[in-house]
Parts: sequence; C-alpha cells; structure tokens
Amino acid sequence: MGMETLADIRGALHAREMQVYYQPQYDALTGKLVGAEALARWVKPDGTVIMPGSFIPVLEESDAIMELDWYMYRETCGFLKRQAQQGIGQVPLSVNFSRRHVAEKDFVEKLCAVADECGADRKYIVVEITESALAGREDAIKELVRQVREAGFRVAIDDFGSGLSSLSFVKDIEVDVLKIDKSLLSNNCENEKERIVLESIFTFAHRLKLTTVAEGVETRQQLGFLRTCSCKVIQGFLFAKPMPAEDFWRLAMERPKAEETEDILVTQPPSSAVQLLLDAVFIRYPLVIFSNLTRNSFYMMAYENFTRQSCPSTGVFEELIQHGASTMYPDDQQLFLDTFSIENQMKAYRRGDKFISVVTRQLGDDGIYRRVETTNYFVKNPSVDDVLVISLCHNLD
Ligand code: C2E
Ligand code: MG
Ligand code: MG
Repeated sequence: MGMETLADIRGALHAREMQVYYQPQYDALTGKLVGAEALARWVKPDGTVIMPGSFIPVLEESDAIMELDWYMYRETCGFLKRQAQQGIGQVPLSVNFSRRHVAEKDFVEKLCAVADECGADRKYIVVEITESALAGREDAIKELVRQVREAGFRVAIDDFGSGLSSLSFVKDIEVDVLKIDKSLLSNNCENEKERIVLESIFTFAHRLKLTTVAEGVETRQQLGFLRTCSCKVIQGFLFAKPMPAEDFWRLAMERPKAEETEDILVTQPPSSAVQLLLDAVFIRYPLVIFSNLTRNSFYMMAYENFTRQSCPSTGVFEELIQHGASTMYPDDQQLFLDTFSIENQMKAYRRGDKFISVVTRQLGDDGIYRRVETTNYFVKNPSVDDVLVISLCHNLD
C-alpha cells in the first residue's frame, strides 16, 4: 500500500473525489441498526478506491487533516438533513476528528455552525476522538468534550485499548460512547487473559454508564463472547462493511424491517439477563447492600434517592448499622440495632431462618419520618463458608 502525496490528496479533496462511506452499527442483541460511522474513501475517476491508510497518515502530518474532517462532517450533516426531509428514521452518525482539532480555534462554534447551516439535528451526531489524542492534554480535552456535549452532540472515544490510554482519564472525562479497539479481539476470543481484559473493560465502561461499541467484529465467536460481556453495539464486517452513502441510505430506509428480529429471551445471554433482573430489583428497592457477616464488611450495590445522607459505598458492617440507626426515629433506633446486630443475625441464620425483617421510621430528605422496611436475606456462595446477606430496603409510605 503506497502513500499518496499531500498535493494529490488535496487535489482529490477539491475535485470531490473524497467520498463518505458509512459502516453500519448494530445492537449486539437484537441486530437492529443503531448507527453508522462515516469513513473516508478516495474514489478515483477510474473507480479505484483508496483506503484511509494511504492518505490519512499523510494528512495527519499537517493541519490538512482538518480540511478532510470538516469535509466529511459537512457531508454527514447533509446526509442527516436529507434523511429528515424524506421522513426516514434516523440513527446517529459518527464522524472522526483528528487530535489536531483540540488546538483548533472555535472548534465547537464551527461544529454548531455547520450542523445548523446544513439543517442537521445535533443529537444524531457523534464526535469521535481517538484515544491517542487524549495523552498529555487532559485538561484541554476535558473542557472541549464538555463544550461539545453541552452543545447537544455526543462524544465517543475511538480505538480504546489500542495505545497507552489511562483508565483514570476515561473515568474523569465525560463522554457518551467507548469504542473498543479491534486489536483487543482475537478471532475466536478463546484466550483466557484476553477474555479477562475485555470483560473488565466492559464492566468498567458500563458502570461508568458508557455505551460500548466493539469495532472490527468479524466472527460469530467474537459476537458470542461480546454478548456475554453485555457489549451494546457491534461494528464489524460480520454484519456490514463500510459502504457508499447511497447503499447506506437504502439500508436505513429498510430499517423498520429489522424490527422483526430474534426473540430477546433467546438472544439474551445470562450475564445481561442477571443485569436486567438487578435493574428490576433496584427499581423496587432503592437501597441494596451486600454484606459479609463473618468478616464484618459490606458493599453497597444500589443507593439511589434514598436519603440525602451520604453513606460510604463499602466498609465495616457494624458501622453501617450504626449509621443506619442514626437516621431512624429515636424510639426505633434500638430495635434496628438489635435486629441487625451480627450476633442476632447469626442466631437467626443458625436457626435456619431465610431472612430477617424489620419496619422502622426513617428521616427523609424533607424532614419527615417515613416507614422503611429493611429485609436481610441470607445467601450462600458455594465457594466460601462466610455468612452473607443481601439487604433490601424500601419505603412503605
Ligand atoms: P476507525 O475510526 O477506528 O474506523 C474503523 C476502521 O475499522 C475502518 O477502517 C473500518 O473499515 C475498519 N473495520 C471495521 N470493521 C472491521 C472488521 O470487521 N475487520 C477489519 N479488519 N476492519 C474493520 P478504515 O475505513 O480503513 O479507516 C481507518 C482509520 O482511518 C479509521 O479508523 C480512522 O482512524 C481513520 N479515518 C477514516 N476516515 C477518517 C476521517 O474522515 N477523518 C479522520 N481524522 N480519520 C479518518
Ligand atoms: Mg472512528
Ligand atoms: Mg476505531
């Protein structure tokens, strides 16, 4: 694969030989079309298609790359506008922006101006920034991303895992989408260590509430494994290669047909079924705690809209009970402490009780006491002898 010269590439850009190809993205479970990425192709007059690998590196040596990015972006906005005019259901389209834009003056203003000029709805535009762009200028990028999102666009980190990205930075930066690089996926995802790394990345991303996209998915085995990781979106040759805009246009038009897909219960992998179950439990019980009575420790699984009083997410169980009691109506505090003392719970456990439950009055955010029911269920983990409990709490009033 030879490199093209900067002059030729520039010429191609002005001669409109650069074209936008779109690679569809699909929901990993339902197979529904959920988006696409705009990728540059140089289509020469004789029909030869030149891949980005032959011209992007040349452009990236100078600010010339920004010209291409803006061209691609404008074309994509135009595509969205035409879809809207035709009443075609739209999906978000991702556009790649080189790291050089971080230093571009008025980047966000330009992003907004072009979308508005073209009449594209910002909520359907995803700005992709490659992971390698992040290194070294964390603060500048954090601020840029904040502004881009505030303006109504979505932001994705591209090629995650391809370089020396720091997990802590992804933790600090507020983005919407994490695209996991294809270099992390082997053909069949058979390697134990590879699986562990990927599972951890997905768990971490989902806990940060990021939408995960796996890039470069080529085999059924990869898809199967990614589903068990609850990966949300698949972009890869297994489903579709990048295609000319007209082809993607037709595909997007046929979209409603894709709704008749496999039954979710058939495709649902166990791990995401468990997640759905948990989500249901968390709706019913805003406070869910996992504790180890033998080791006097706890871990907060859900703590939402319960009381304003903050509580550590993990720590010593007896301190948690003390803390819980302190939020109760004075007359109920002793009852609460006695019921959930480790000693009393151990006794109940040895008796063969399945759970232990109590209703107390707790001070709410508004200063009013409400009845709260706390039930501790004894659970068993086959690999340890420790006495474990799951506490489910909810308000009765
Ligand atoms: P990227 O943004 O990570 O895009 C995904 C690349 O993975 C695309 O390569 C796509 O064709 C390829 N791909 C997708 N699924 C599969 C698969 O199943 N197997 C394999 N082997 N590859 C798959 P492409 O189109 O060659 O683009 C390469 C890179 O060039 C892009 O990587 C992106 O970094 C850059 N690029 C492309 N267009 C633009 C652009 O308009 N602006 C900028 N700044 N960069 C661009
Ligand atoms: Mg990309
Ligand atoms: Mg990528």
